[in-house]
Amino acid sequence: MSRLAICPGSFDPITFGHIDIIKRGSKIFDHVIVAVFKNQSKNPIFTVDERIRLIEESVKEYPNVTVDTSSGLLIDYAESKNAQAIIRGLRAVSDFEYEMQITSMNRKLNPEIETFFMMTNNQYSFLSSSIVKEAARYQGNVSDLVPEPVEKALKEKFTK
Ligand code: ADP
Repeated sequence: MSRLAICPGSFDPITFGHIDIIKRGSKIFDHVIVAVFKNQSKNPIFTVDERIRLIEESVKEYPNVTVDTSSGLLIDYAESKNAQAIIRGLRAVSDFEYEMQITSMNRKLNPEIETFFMMTNNQYSFLSSSIVKEAARYQGNVSDLVPEPVEKALKEKFTK
């Protein structure tokens, strides 16, 4: 049986922290779908289409990774794709409580779909899309935090 995992998130924009999780997940699962969700509580700077394009450019070297979007519930999306798993990354303890809540809700909604957590690589422990946006807004150098197309897109966004 082919194993499919969904790697959901806002990806506003994708960073090396996300890519590390996607890459490691793609070694364990036969197919990984990176799914862009509109997070209502976040105010994105990139449109969903822009985010998808940036992710596609950043994961093109992984043949079993594809990119998609959904505006519904994550668990419904995972079910519709016949996914076995959801992959999430964990950085600090601060991620833990939020992830616990979401995971237990998802398990209640569909106990067949497992959520897998991967610890961030140490070098990305403090890396988030928000930090990258904050730095880029003030022309900070983010070249070691995001792939080149994202760096370019951030520059364009903040010089408009
Ligand atoms: P969300 O709005 O769902 O939190 P994000 O795009 O912020 O979406 O994050 C998507 C996933 O990637 C989450 O599981 C998050 O914990 C993980 N993630 C984000 N940054 C990192 C990082 N630096 N290292 C490991 N995982 C990360």
